[in-house]
Amino acid sequence: MHEMSIALAVIGQVEEAALAGGATAVRSVRLQVGELAGVVPDSLAFCFELACTGTVLEGAELVTDPVPARARCAPCAGEWAVGMPPDLCCPKCGSATAELLSGRELQIVSVRWEDGTTRAPTPAPTRERIHEER
Ligand SMILES: [Zn+2]
Repeated sequence: MHEMSIALAVIGQVEEAALAGGATAVRSVRLQVGELAGVVPDSLAFCFELACTGTVLEGAELVTDPVPARARCAPCAGEWAVGMPPDLCCPKCGSATAELLSGRELQIVSVRWEDGTTRAPTPAPTRERIHEER
């Protein structure tokens, strides 16, 4: 399942950060999820809860920040909401050379540890993202 592999990647990153920072428990994890990342938030939350069992993240809450997909047209500099399914043709001039500005995000924004401090783990792309960029 797509969401399960993402949940595992997120947990792996937070566990590494917890180990490095000496944290023993996590309250919540905030994750940016782009509109085009292909992630169902409810499904991800469910997988996250399952996968957290027995880890330092057990009982932690997953907070997802949706990021709308936006594109920019190089010839006319117009910007628009891409929507779903994505429309990458410029609504102003009809050019199809759009540059995607946002919408593919899939990354941890911050982690709230049990001691109340909030810190982002070492910024590292999730496994999914690495896969996409190859
Ligand atoms: Zn245009």
